[in-house]
Amino acid sequence: MNLCDIKTIKQIMAMFSLNFRKEFGQNFLTNPMVVEDIADNCCQDASGTILEIGPGIGSLTRELAERYENVVALEIDHGLIPVLKYTLGDYRNVTVINEDVMKANLSEILAPYFAKGTVSVCANLPYYITTPILMKLLESGLPFEYITIMIQSEVADRLCAIPGGKDCGAITAVLNYYGQPEKLFKVSAGNFIPAPKVDSSVVRIRLHQEKPCHPLDEATLFRTIRAAFEQRRKTLPNALSAVFGELTKGEITEIIAACGHSVDIRGEKLGIEEFTALSDGLWTKIQEKKA
Ligand code: SAM
Repeated sequence: MNLCDIKTIKQIMAMFSLNFRKEFGQNFLTNPMVVEDIADNCCQDASGTILEIGPGIGSLTRELAERYENVVALEIDHGLIPVLKYTLGDYRNVTVINEDVMKANLSEILAPYFAKGTVSVCANLPYYITTPILMKLLESGLPFEYITIMIQSEVADRLCAIPGGKDCGAITAVLNYYGQPEKLFKVSAGNFIPAPKVDSSVVRIRLHQEKPCHPLDEATLFRTIRAAFEQRRKTLPNALSAVFGELTKGEITEIIAACGHSVDIRGEKLGIEEFTALSDGLWTKIQEKKA
């Protein structure tokens, strides 16, 4: 059964009386070479486990099951569960779970697999919820080896932007704290059914085993990054003042200067180490004022 063949996909959907559900971002891959490329490149450990988010009718899932020891696939759409039983019935190493990844207890689900070896994530993500899913995976603290995701090309460019460069956003800075992103290849909209309005790209993130910096308080680091990018037209003292209401603009300006930056610098120019030093200064001052 070729699960990338458009006629086969349509037949399967009709057989189970299903329609492509826009609200779940259902754009299924129709190019077997793309599916194989993603499966080949998402992980280097054939003895490891892959967490797939959104298996759809199981095209990528089958290729993953051929290459890796175990595959755990979370699918939100209960209508697709009987389809996956049908298309993946021959694969004893696949576990399908009917769950919303945003609500799933990933640490509980994956504990037996982490106990056995490495776990990586591989997914053709639904566009409507790309960033929240990525943030959930990163913030989970689970020691994934790689996270490989197919996402909208524009978002991929942002994730992989050079810190301090023009395409850089808050998500770029936060992602650099957790891992090293790399754009693998672009996939044009014609490779999906139904075809989305925009092209996609595959991004592979290698999670840092050791973080590049150690902030005194992670929440303050992320708050600092968000503040800098939310108000990116403002200078850094103004952008931070808008968010750190517990500090005066004078105190913030002093902290920025103590970090060696001019007061008219824009936050988007900072790298993750510089954000960490700044957030440490802000956090320390906030603690001093609380004491
Ligand atoms: N993997 C298939 C492929 O590449 O052809 C389907 C990818 S499709 C872009 C996204 C899939 O994610 C759909 O099957 C959709 O039902 C599922 N999905 C959407 N939101 C989800 C969520 N919150 N949790 C788990 N699965 C989700």
